[in-house]
Amino acid sequence: MRAWVLNETNGPESFTLQDVPTPDPGIGEVRVKLEVSALNHLDLWVSRGMPAPHEFPHIAGADGTGVVEAIGVDVASVALGDAVTINPSVSCGKCSVCLTGDTPYCKSYGILGEHSNGTLAEYAVVPARNVVPRPEGITAVEAGSYGLAYGTAMRMLRRSNLRAGDVLLVVGVGGGVSSAAQLIGQAMGADVYVTSRSPDKIAAALEMGASGGFDSSGEFAKDLKTTIGRAADVVIENVGPATWGQSIRSLQSGGRLAICGSTSGPKVELSVPYLFFKQLEIIGSTMFDHSEFERVTRLIDGGAVPVVVDSVYPFEDLPDAIARLDSGLQRGKVAIQHG
Ligand SMILES: [Zn+2]
Repeated sequence: MRAWVLNETNGPESFTLQDVPTPDPGIGEVRVKLEVSALNHLDLWVSRGMPAPHEFPHIAGADGTGVVEAIGVDVASVALGDAVTINPSVSCGKCSVCLTGDTPYCKSYGILGEHSNGTLAEYAVVPARNVVPRPEGITAVEAGSYGLAYGTAMRMLRRSNLRAGDVLLVVGVGGGVSSAAQLIGQAMGADVYVTSRSPDKIAAALEMGASGGFDSSGEFAKDLKTTIGRAADVVIENVGPATWGQSIRSLQSGGRLAICGSTSGPKVELSVPYLFFKQLEIIGSTMFDHSEFERVTRLIDGGAVPVVVDSVYPFEDLPDAIARLDSGLQRGKVAIQHG
């Protein structure tokens, strides 16, 4: 099969289109003939060796949709010809945490395209439990694009105990996870505000239903309180030190801050008395489990949450798609059309 592989990790220019053996599904696995995949920043990081693939050649790509085209033994949940969307959250499926469902705590946990070969290829082999029926009400491009970002946002909002009527502040809107958090938060009945350094990204968020937006590099905690007369119940973060102080101050007493990344650096300062007097909760979150993926798939299928796609590139033009993602100019997902 043809695949965009990494034989080295010298950055995005390391992606090379070449022929590799088509993988066969093992026990409990299925082979999906991909119709659409989508890029995440994870693919850029993997191409830079952060983290380095376990072996070369490596196929990146977490998201995708296609048709089940081969089935391994012990697979009853999926049939040949099923149109499916791939859940990139891969775990052993057998340990005690997997059996209780909270798979991101599995010791063998991994992300498709990071820890195992992913979707930037003609075919991908995944565990059968990692495919769900493709939502019928959306396009293949949308179905192949939402997986990692929307699943991650879903888990953050669930773990933050977001409730209808809550004020949700999404810091650094415009990235895949943060934009998804805005849209899912709105579908869950929250009153959603956003921050960005880009007036265009704030304008786009307002178009998509946000109640207001503030400059990420300003005093957005004060801006929020001045605008609505109160602070946020939940803050969604993936920026880290550049916005941390403002994000914490944006919380009202009993507020929850969920963080899934730290793009501006690894360390933050925290006033411990402020933390306990305000009875704040700080929630680290990564990826998602099967129930969270299914929940966000239902929200998308029912039309409650749109999948925002920035652009679609032919499979052969992956370098152009990567450049689009790396530019930071995109609004929504960068998708790849296979075949
Ligand atoms: Zn496990």
